[in-house]
Amino acid sequence: MFYVLFVFLALLHLDLDTFYVSVERIINTELQSKPLLVGGTSDRGVVAACSYETRGFGVHSGMPMKMAKELCPEAVVIRGNAGTYSKYSDVVTEIIKEHVPLFEKSSIDEFYADLSGMDRFFGCYKYASEMRQKIIKETGLPISFGLSVNKVVSKVATNEAKPNNQLKIDFGLEKPFLAPLSIKKIPMVGDKTYQTLRNLGIRKVKTVQKMPMDIMQRVLGSNGRIIWKRANGMDNTPVIPFHDRKSISTERTFDRDTIDVTKLKGILLAMTENLAYQLRRGDKLTACITVKIRYSDFNTYSKQLRIPYTSADHILIPKILGLFNTLYSKRMLVRLIGIRFSHLVSGNYQINLFEDTEEALNLYQAMDYVRNRFGGRSVIRASAMGAKTIGSMYNPFNGQPPVVLAHRKQ
Ligand SMILES: [Mg+2]
Repeated sequence: MFYVLFVFLALLHLDLDTFYVSVERIINTELQSKPLLVGGTSDRGVVAACSYETRGFGVHSGMPMKMAKELCPEAVVIRGNAGTYSKYSDVVTEIIKEHVPLFEKSSIDEFYADLSGMDRFFGCYKYASEMRQKIIKETGLPISFGLSVNKVVSKVATNEAKPNNQLKIDFGLEKPFLAPLSIKKIPMVGDKTYQTLRNLGIRKVKTVQKMPMDIMQRVLGSNGRIIWKRANGMDNTPVIPFHDRKSISTERTFDRDTIDVTKLKGILLAMTENLAYQLRRGDKLTACITVKIRYSDFNTYSKQLRIPYTSADHILIPKILGLFNTLYSKRMLVRLIGIRFSHLVSGNYQINLFEDTEEALNLYQAMDYVRNRFGGRSVIRASAMGAKTIGSMYNPFNGQPPVVLAHRKQ
């Protein structure tokens, strides 16, 4: 006699709507229905988030602030505050944690939860609806969700549900749901891929559904395979459990104690680049940095500094070297050096936009793209090249590469 155990897969995707904008509107209710731009307010700043009212004017995130202001002159412009957004994100995270044992925090305002097997007891859709209502009631933040058999279809469903709504795609209806949508709506299809597909005459998901997978693979390589599968509603990536890690660190003990300051600085620089890259991979920012030195007599000293939230090398490196200069005063042989980034909060590139220019943002995205593809040490500053093998390039926040690269230029 056979028993067939059949567990319904239920993957929930939750996404806070125009998160930074919504938080600003809670803080200042007068901004409620006004067009709003959040980002770097300097001349060369970039839009990190924009309200729905501005989108009709052609404004989108990632665009130079100057251009956005020209397109939508009546918009209120606000310089973002990473600390505030992180606090609101934590409150939402806590509510989700109370409701579901297994969830993933994929960015400051985005979550996945595995509700599989819960159906018999609660009804996943009802359960997700109640959780969403609780988040709205307790935080005042609008949030949308999508529910389906996998992460990709749920994410697309969330985007279709927005603003401030929810959508369930029943088992078996994944393909018909995706068919009429623009191919652009498939996660992973960026501007460049979209252009390639458009040039092939592909506009809608249904065209890809009818194509053999081989053709997509021939045109777009391994990404083509993934896009084809996604277009067909197939995805089996698991939910990566969320760990609220508060610090990351690295240190190096020398085989032979050294007094070579140039070498020590080169190693610190490489360590900073490595940890900053890991921060960006994990969608994290640090607000406190520490340098540690152990001398040959085993006396250990450390010095720390509070800084504005960042994950940018060019901000962190001078500060780390500055700490080292004040700390290394003994002119003694050094046995060990290390650095630590702590007071970590969730946040991605967009938050660095409050400080940075478009050029800096593009540079980091390009560098990290190469690192993700060719390995962590494929791009390093020339002065860090003397320092060999500084730790491994895993993502310390979940042990796996991120599902989506830590940028949201769409
Ligand atoms: Mg969002």
